[in-house]
Amino acid sequence: MKQIVVLGAGFAGLIAAVGAARKLAELKIPRSDVGVTVINRDRFHSIRVRNYETDLSDLRVPLDDVLGPIGVDLMVGDVVGLDTARHEVSCTFGGRATAVPYDRLVFALGSELVRPPVPGLAEYGFDIDTYAAAARLSAHLDALPGRPATAGRFTALVIGGGLTGVEMATELATRMRSLAGGAPSRVIVADRAPRIGSNMGEAACDVIDEALHALGVESLPGISVASVDAEGVRLASGEEIAAATVVWCGGMRAHPLVAALPGPYDRFGRVSVDRFLKVAGTDDVFAAGDAAAALLDGVHPSVMSCQHARPMGRIAGHNVVCDLTGAAPMPIEIGYYVTCLDLGAWGAVYCQGWDRQVAVTGEAAKKTKRIINTERIYPPRSRDAAEILATAAPVTQAPPQQFAAR
Ligand SMILES: Cc1cc2nc3c(=O)[nH]c(=O)nc-3n(C[C@H](O)[C@H](O)[C@H](O)COP(=O)(O)OP(=O)(O)OC[C@H]3O[C@@H](n4cnc5c(N)ncnc54)[C@H](O)[C@@H]3O)c2cc1C
Repeated sequence: MKQIVVLGAGFAGLIAAVGAARKLAELKIPRSDVGVTVINRDRFHSIRVRNYETDLSDLRVPLDDVLGPIGVDLMVGDVVGLDTARHEVSCTFGGRATAVPYDRLVFALGSELVRPPVPGLAEYGFDIDTYAAAARLSAHLDALPGRPATAGRFTALVIGGGLTGVEMATELATRMRSLAGGAPSRVIVADRAPRIGSNMGEAACDVIDEALHALGVESLPGISVASVDAEGVRLASGEEIAAATVVWCGGMRAHPLVAALPGPYDRFGRVSVDRFLKVAGTDDVFAAGDAAAALLDGVHPSVMSCQHARPMGRIAGHNVVCDLTGAAPMPIEIGYYVTCLDLGAWGAVYCQGWDRQVAVTGEAAKKTKRIINTERIYPPRSRDAAEILATAAPVTQAPPQQFAAR
């Protein structure tokens, strides 16, 4: 019996495992000949892109509901090492070290927040990189009204004015006001760059500025954080900001275990894969999602996003079976790029193209964002095998629906 092992059950890994099961079913290969196993840290598919939201109640889909009906095995544990020469993954399951052999591997362990050694950040800072981190922040926020009335009790400082930081700050604007219950509150979004949201391009930046202004979020561009403590933050300029809530949104880097794969790597630590999602220099390893960099249309490299992790996972899952069985693999081909950025109670901004042309703003764009966050990126929860397998067909999903502003 041959074994396909998928590392990670995030946006890339889950759909890769489903894609492999779908292709095996299509080729009528019984699972007694080829098994598919997913190894993930916990029993959930985490909707990581929603970690900035106030309501975290529907952010985790039980993996058993998706993998069980299609006969994919789940091993819950930590991947701690990878030996491509021995074709073996090292894991710990319940504290017990185990080696898991593979015939074909899909590496989809994603990415991690970049955590610089700023004094006090690890101890006093919050982040929204994982569900656990978002839940910790949420519990802290909910406890603020019961805390002593210090200067920064209802002040949140979001450090990092990229997409995640802007979504966090705009969401916090309404939440902090509500927590403060009439007392003064502040939400500040700070960045080293000269403009908040600058990686979205000038036109979207103007929209972001408008939303921040309307929501009363203060922008603090061009700063550098020197240290964090229980009272707040000290900037490199010496200025101090009293803030009981400091949220670090400083960018993502590929999972550290990517280093066990032969390079080359890009500036985000992602391993290069070819258009079939195979890792250069290996015969049996595929990679998808934030851990991998693929050219999507022959020109543009994939972006660390669920927008690209899901199609990369689909193609990797399809091709890993093709590779094992001698069937013809499919190249990845995505002919569009969009960005839909949540701007809290103000709405959202929906951009099209690699140059991020603003297409829709405000409530109309928010409608698209809601559909993305609550429908488009979820696996089926019906436990219906045919429906689950169909979601992983190796076809490019159409861009998210656009709505006209009223
Ligand atoms: C707050 C936030 C907002 C975002 N907003 C957007 C957005 O609007 N649009 C967009 O396209 N993208 C967004 N992203 C980025 C998006 O979440 C990632 O690009 C996407 O999750 C990548 O998918 P992935 O499968 O590669 O990794 P992940 O989804 O992170 O999945 C990795 C999986 O591997 C598991 N894992 C990791 N390490 C181990 C280990 N050692 N052992 C076992 N299991 C392990 C994890 O538990 C997880 O299940 C956002 C990210 C964040 C944090």
